[in-house]
Amino acid sequence: MNGPKVKCVVNTCVHWLKGNRCNAHNIDITHEEEGKMSQTAEHTQCKTFYQRRGLANTLGSLDNVNWGGWITATLLPGSEVYPSVTCTVSSCQYWVEGNRCKASEIDVVGANADECQDTNCYTFRPKAAP
Ligand code: SF4
Ligand code: SF4
Repeated sequence: MNGPKVKCVVNTCVHWLKGNRCNAHNIDITHEEEGKMSQTAEHTQCKTFYQRRGLANTLGSLDNVNWGGWITATLLPGSEVYPSVTCTVSSCQYWVEGNRCKASEIDVVGANADECQDTNCYTFRPKAAP
């Protein structure tokens, strides 16, 4: 199963690229509060968010960069670049065994975020009651 396409508006993250793209190699979507099931999109976060503050902190995030995607995105500004997605939000109807996501696309929101908790997976939908 291929993961979802990722669209992200979190412009303060070191992984963010113009065109609402993300050049991380993989992103982790998690519950905002550890051990507490997300009931709404606001209870989720992109744990891979890393605030863009300057060169030193940008260099600290380089181990999770999708370099192939970054080169493509730099040379071809309109190109599609997507990270893989690991998600632990098992209360979402798109969640599948193995911490995968079966949505075709996810929207990560939280423009001007200062920390992970300011970001959300807006595509989250609670599972229907059994
Ligand atoms: S907040 Fe998450 S999805 Fe958005 S650019 Fe950063 S790592 Fe990628
Ligand atoms: S849509 Fe649901 S399963 Fe997919 S990444 Fe978002 S919270 Fe996780």
